[in-house]
Amino acid sequence: MRALLALAIVTLVLGCASRPKCPVYPSRVAWKISSYGTSMPSENQRKEILKAMETWEKLLQSCSTNPVDFEEAEVGQAVNLDISFVQTGLGEGTLGRVDCYAPDPRRNQTLQFNEGATRFTDGPGEPTGHTVSLYGVALHELGHVLGLWDNDSPDSVMCFVYPSTATAPSAADVERLQAIYGWREVVDAEVPAGPAGCVASAEAPR
Ligand SMILES: [Zn+2]
Repeated sequence: MRALLALAIVTLVLGCASRPKCPVYPSRVAWKISSYGTSMPSENQRKEILKAMETWEKLLQSCSTNPVDFEEAEVGQAVNLDISFVQTGLGEGTLGRVDCYAPDPRRNQTLQFNEGATRFTDGPGEPTGHTVSLYGVALHELGHVLGLWDNDSPDSVMCFVYPSTATAPSAADVERLQAIYGWREVVDAEVPAGPAGCVASAEAPR
């Protein structure tokens, strides 16, 4: 209950797509970062975004039959995830946004972080929302890129309000991912056990 009350007073919204889910799920996401924000050095921002990509990649490799590779596009190469930081245009309180759930590999999808709403940090962020974890927001937005929807569970990285208490995908997040990308029994030692790993899924989700 306390967690729910805490969520109720914080109204920063983690990005939500305004368009319906795209029908094609990716096996490879060619991305680029078009612009960085000013909250911290760009290499720190890049590191947090890469860390979030790696979290999803490892989970998919370990827990599903259809892994997804996030690959940085070479200069001049086709991109299907264009990442940028914006100061205006996303609306007050919105921390990030993707333009549809699950990118169609044939077209360019955008992922925007809203620096106008708050300051991003490479630390854990504050419960007040004055500074927010870039890793946490990136994890959430990339979850949309993979086809996951928002929910209201505080232990899910896909919780639609900030701060979610989640710092890693929950068992339910993993199951939702497996529903899209297939269930795999093998447990990779690199994926932490418990809520963040696929250990919790003793049986294939129905
Ligand atoms: Zn969202």
